[in-house]
Amino acid sequence: MPNMANEKVKMREQDPNVRNKNFDEVTCGYSAEEAMAEAARCLNCKHKPCMDGCPVSVQIPRFISCIAAGEFKKALEIIGETNSLPAVCGRVCPQESQCEQLCVRGKKGEPVAVGRLERFAADNGMDTGEAENAAAGKAASEDVPGGIKVAVIGAGPAGLTCAGDLVKLGYDVTIFEAFHIAGGVLVYGIPEFRLPKAIVRREIDKLAAAGVKLRTNYIVGRTVTVEDLFEEGYKAVFIGSGAGLPKFMNIPGENLNGVFSANEFLTRINLMKAYRDEYDTPVYDVKKVAVVGGGNVAMDAARCAKRIGAEEVYIIYRRSLEEMPARQEEVHHAMEEGIIFKLLTNPVEIKGEDGRVSAITCDRMELGEPDAGGRRRPVVVEGGRFDIGLDCVIMALGTSPNPLISATTGGLEVNKWGCLEVDGNLMTTRAGVFAGGDAVTGAATVILAMGAGKRAADGIDSYIKKGL
Ligand code: FAD
Ligand code: SF4
Repeated sequence: MPNMANEKVKMREQDPNVRNKNFDEVTCGYSAEEAMAEAARCLNCKHKPCMDGCPVSVQIPRFISCIAAGEFKKALEIIGETNSLPAVCGRVCPQESQCEQLCVRGKKGEPVAVGRLERFAADNGMDTGEAENAAAGKAASEDVPGGIKVAVIGAGPAGLTCAGDLVKLGYDVTIFEAFHIAGGVLVYGIPEFRLPKAIVRREIDKLAAAGVKLRTNYIVGRTVTVEDLFEEGYKAVFIGSGAGLPKFMNIPGENLNGVFSANEFLTRINLMKAYRDEYDTPVYDVKKVAVVGGGNVAMDAARCAKRIGAEEVYIIYRRSLEEMPARQEEVHHAMEEGIIFKLLTNPVEIKGEDGRVSAITCDRMELGEPDAGGRRRPVVVEGGRFDIGLDCVIMALGTSPNPLISATTGGLEVNKWGCLEVDGNLMTTRAGVFAGGDAVTGAATVILAMGAGKRAADGIDSYIKKGL
């Protein structure tokens, strides 16, 4: 008998007033009993509408039926057929606009909690050691001769997925990563309280065990170029270098001390361990912080600022809550944690004293006519200018791809946003050089980057086999 409750089984969370002072995970995950009760809400629909919303086509009703039956290991194996990072996706995928948005149960109540169930299967597998054995996708190819070298640039979700699929096909894969640690945004951007680093490390260890080689502190375009890689005998190159170049507003005062890009602020906290008491923190004491922007990155920066001791943290966003691009869950969590939302507010100047931020000047806005994209355009309200006293401003206005690789590699074309141009197989305008993830789409999502990594691995495999 299906469980016909209209609401999802609740997931336990840390109390907002406790968690806004620590970096431990906010949500606690389902127990086996909770997961089975939630899985029993699934109707096992024949036409599987939820699957149409999954960019990597996870067999959703199949794995959920296994959880309902208590067959947790089998559930993880089914997810692993198409998704190599289930513990990550179960935590950070925007399920509400993907699988769960299309779930039939969502018509008369809440959809089945697909993401929480995916997380449960992955975490349970890690606890029991079954995750190490769950097959992640492809079977080893018999027609790839050993020793064919492929280079992957960037160890984010796109690069890691591409490398994992290629090694399974029998290629000799090396990832070249600029940072001292692999994971991309999963380690330097998304904070510990949403995605514990240990989970990402475990996924990377699995790839290393499968034979993927990792060279860190390697900036392609500086330490080595794409041309050098071909000269060293790599037969194809995948560029998964992400979109790490921050945007600013170009308003007066942006070069004052105390103004950060969200990427820099989050990297200092996540990778340089500013969040740990025993480290000489590379972020100075901030008490009043404004984060400008309304996406996931803005929510992460604001929640981190609160956790490192800021007393007042503002989100400044020029439209209303309805247009905010961040996941609803993140906005809700941020509000619970005491982040103050200044909506319909647009900064025009950052003021300083002795070279450091002292205030931000903002205009009040209202929503006018829709723009070309259909979103109502924010318009300045006359006479509504005001100041907020601050000691730190964090700009979370989006990012674009860093031009280093395209500038140092002959034959690579980029579009007007600096994103690499690719064909249907994700090959760039340079033969043998493939690309995917944020480097091609601009800032997007983990699951889309993973999907691109998979497609590129197929493209590289066909390209190399044609030349054999
Ligand atoms: P990245 O993850 O950016 O990885 C690129 C890697 O390439 C990095 O490790 C970088 O160091 C390396 N690199 C760059 N240049 C070079 C070079 N020249 N040589 C060698 N290595 C290089 N998505 C979601 O789905 N859900 C979320 O909740 C979510 N939250 C986010 C929160 C934050 C703070 C940020 C910044 C992003 C968030 N995203 C989220 C977006 C998501 O993380 C990205 O879309 C995804 O990580 C893109 O993957 P990628 O592999 O293309 O690039
Ligand atoms: Fe289950 Fe919802 Fe998918 Fe139907 S649409 S199979 S109820 S998850």
